[in-house]
Amino acid sequence: MFNLILFGPPGSGKGTQSEKLIASYGFKHLSTGDILRNEIKNGTALGLEAKNLMDRGQLVPDAVVIGMIRTALEQNPGVNGFLFDGFPRTNAQAEALDALLDEKNTAIDVVLALQVSKKELIKRLLNRGLTSGRTDDVNESVIGSRIEEYERKTAAVADHYKKLDKVVYIPGEGSVDQIFTSLSNEIDTRS
Ligand code: ADP
Repeated sequence: MFNLILFGPPGSGKGTQSEKLIASYGFKHLSTGDILRNEIKNGTALGLEAKNLMDRGQLVPDAVVIGMIRTALEQNPGVNGFLFDGFPRTNAQAEALDALLDEKNTAIDVVLALQVSKKELIKRLLNRGLTSGRTDDVNESVIGSRIEEYERKTAAVADHYKKLDKVVYIPGEGSVDQIFTSLSNEIDTRS
């Protein structure tokens, strides 16, 4: 089993690269953003609660997303590996993930961290807002809040995995294929 966290700020290309990685390696893709948007689409109570926070660029409570990941892990026994996208986003989430994987006698193998300048992130997210239908992509102040949440709460997740010597930084500007090659090289040397 090979478990990977694709890490980076909003707009760093996690979704785009995840699609290519799952097609190429057969990972089970677990994106908390996608799961939450699905809850919103289905009009569940959880979706309603999450929508309020997401529309303001704030994080959904740890207990909610940790519960979602616990369920997803239980629903997918026997997969080759998981690709975590947009999770963990806080230290509490990282610790919970490590414990959940440990219960299954597995662990995170590597954290691939995409690095993109703030200026480029804002440009990409505004651009995505023109076509994505995502309400959190259209407003520059909401985008700003998401980047701030990343800096205040999520950047620390890299420190957590750095202590375990699991973080590799990947330049996230350049062509989609170039970045994919860099990510693949890191996976290939480890799996
Ligand atoms: P982005 O494309 O900006 O990286 P995502 O699609 O991963 O964003 O998530 C969109 C929103 O969903 C976040 O701004 C946040 O409100 C919520 N969210 C997603 N994953 C998490 C998480 N692990 N913890 C808390 N909130 C989350």
